[in-house]
Amino acid sequence: MADPRIVLITGGAGGIGIATAQTFLDRGDQVILVDLKEEALEKAVQTLGGASDRLDTLVADVTKEEDVENYVRTTVQKHGRIDVFHNNAGIAGPNSPMTELDASMFRTILEINTTGVFLGMKHVGRQMTEQGEGVIINTASNAAYIGSAGMAGYIASKHAVAGLTKTGALELAAAGVRVNAVAPAAIDTTMLSEIQQNATGDDEEAFKAALHAGIPVGRYGRADEVANVVVFLASPEASFVTGSIYNVDGGMQAD
Ligand code: NAD
Repeated sequence: MADPRIVLITGGAGGIGIATAQTFLDRGDQVILVDLKEEALEKAVQTLGGASDRLDTLVADVTKEEDVENYVRTTVQKHGRIDVFHNNAGIAGPNSPMTELDASMFRTILEINTTGVFLGMKHVGRQMTEQGEGVIINTASNAAYIGSAGMAGYIASKHAVAGLTKTGALELAAAGVRVNAVAPAAIDTTMLSEIQQNATGDDEEAFKAALHAGIPVGRYGRADEVANVVVFLASPEASFVTGSIYNVDGGMQAD
């Protein structure tokens, strides 16, 4: 794989996306951030030290196939290839028991977290197949393995991401493309704050205490701790790793 690598990140204006971008930028790669809103992307660029030749942004809704085709086409037109794809955009959705959950909300969560991931794998996978190499890293979650009362949409969507990861790995192995996922839990980003707000309103301390009690290392994770695993999975050091889901969860799955 050529160096610097061309790295495309969806959900690139969010906590884990920015941290992943920073880690790839630090090692000299070219990064393209994809997200829903121009303003959020501009803010992300500022967080990453301001405009640079090595940092592009593209507005796209990952649920829309024409947007996905466009972010792939625009990247390939400008940079000639896509070496690494962090397929990361996602939402948590409201905290609501299934018996109260609007079907339209359930569908929205699946559209973003699952269909968005599928569409990214489909179109980036085609490009990487043509190249004969590439690495895809999906962002799953510990929600890919467990149930969680009040989170039916999120849980279903992330179980599906695990399935897409394994299936993509099998379908793309012969083309020289590796597909893996990270499964974070309790990472200190906007999403975690939203989950906390939805679950307990303003009683942040109660939420934190309950969550910390369930994390063997006794603290939230940082977005850069997820980014480091993404960068490892993208690296030649992980050349025999495909179809795997890496927990980045302070030991929660071990419990
Ligand atoms: P975040 O809310 O900071 O970032 C998510 C980003 O995805 C946002 O910038 C948002 O605008 C973008 N996005 C949402 N819908 C989109 C769409 N339709 N098209 C394009 N972009 C869209 O949260 P984060 O913690 O950085 O989450 C990143 C990923 O990590 C998500 O897939 C999330 O499910 C996963 N994850 C997070 C945690 C955690 O504790 N924070 C745990 C497990 C998994």
